[in-house]
Amino acid sequence: MDQQPVAIVTGASRGIGRAIAAKLASSGFSVVVNFVQSADRAASVVSEMESQGCQAIAVRADVGKKEDREQLLAECQERFGRLDLLVNNAGIAPPQRVDLLSATEASWEKVFTTNLKGPFFLSQRAATGMIRQIAAGEIPAAKIINISSVSAYAGSRDRADYCIAKAGLAMMTQLLAARLAEESIQVFEICPGIIRTDMTATVTEKYDALIESGLTPIQRWGEASDVAEAVGALVEERFPFSTGQRFHVDGGYHIRRL
Ligand code: NAP
Repeated sequence: MDQQPVAIVTGASRGIGRAIAAKLASSGFSVVVNFVQSADRAASVVSEMESQGCQAIAVRADVGKKEDREQLLAECQERFGRLDLLVNNAGIAPPQRVDLLSATEASWEKVFTTNLKGPFFLSQRAATGMIRQIAAGEIPAAKIINISSVSAYAGSRDRADYCIAKAGLAMMTQLLAARLAEESIQVFEICPGIIRTDMTATVTEKYDALIESGLTPIQRWGEASDVAEAVGALVEERFPFSTGQRFHVDGGYHIRRL
């Protein structure tokens, strides 16, 4: 079994997940870099980490598919023999932005499967393994960190499925935190605002204008590294008597203002 703590980061081939994986590697974690399509990018994340003396593997798995989730956990166990941290980061925007009165079941199913059902059942299976390892004295404690969104509470009428799935992820954090506290597993939600990644690349001009007009008290785009720093703070064990928290990484967007 690996002596270092081990993290699975879903959707770590690019964007926020990639930055989180890099941060965890620099914090002493061995990292499972999950991806679904970008094999080359995931491989480059792994080789970047290895060149810095960190251990990492890339695992292709669609978090929306049960057999892929099982495979992801199995490969982590096989390579590292333990799991200390699951970061549920993988997520997709709806294939199309359409008014909720025209929203389709196909889009709902795709977004919910990836952004909510996948993280829920992956957390369920990961937590079961963590509980077993904690009981066996193989790991001292564990964590699950869910990457939600300001869309969990700020509605976009043309992305109903995304918003409702993210709101569900927020409740999932609360439920898991309440259930898993007695098992020495902390659960947190990180709620990013407008972050510069592939996901927001198609709406750059829209957000440029909104930020310019004062949408966020801190008037700049968020970077993937801003979210990664929050994960880094959580794994430093500075919050021993906390669980279920939502951490805003949004330039103050969540503050109601007159
Ligand atoms: P991104 O740049 O589009 O990257 C998405 C990542 O998720 C990629 O690594 C992708 O893998 C992976 N992925 C997609 N579907 C997957 C699946 N079914 N199974 C496994 N992995 C999958 O997105 P991002 O902006 O970094 O977003 C990361 C998370 O932050 C998402 O949950 C998103 O909702 C949330 N978020 C983003 C923002 C923002 O402004 N960017 C704001 C709030 C919240 P491949 O490369 O293999 O496709």
